[in-house]
Amino acid sequence: MDEQKKLLEIVAQANFPYHYSAGKLLSFFFTALRDEKKIYGRKCSKCGQVYVPPRPACGPCFAPTNEWVEVGPQGSLECFTVVYFTFLDPMTGQKRPVPYGYGLIKLDHASTRIQHFLSINDPKLLKAGMRMEPVFLDQREGKLSDIKWFKPVE
Ligand SMILES: [Zn+2]
Repeated sequence: MDEQKKLLEIVAQANFPYHYSAGKLLSFFFTALRDEKKIYGRKCSKCGQVYVPPRPACGPCFAPTNEWVEVGPQGSLECFTVVYFTFLDPMTGQKRPVPYGYGLIKLDHASTRIQHFLSINDPKLLKAGMRMEPVFLDQREGKLSDIKWFKPVE
């Protein structure tokens, strides 16, 4: 008998809801995002790099980060894409309507970039270097998705 024909397919539905601690730094970061619509980064005590979202230590120098720095809210779009192929959004478990813009934004006073959705989904209207700002949801929960998307600064 062919080995492939012996294999069975197991059909199961998995459901793994879980909660975990955001930790000290992300708790501060997400609380400020939710309550004040402010974005903070964490500054390296040795080289001064500002990490957004915050990190407890600097990757290049292994030094602890030790200072909160308010960043943005505006920043520069460094690169982008427009997504036309739908897939399950890991944050919602639902298919996100396409097309949508997605980009890396370097917030003012930050050394790193955050990736987020863009209000524009026409690649002809997007340009690397354009100034962007976050649009916050009215009802915020303390998640990065409290920012609906980034839109061009008018
Ligand atoms: Zn450093």
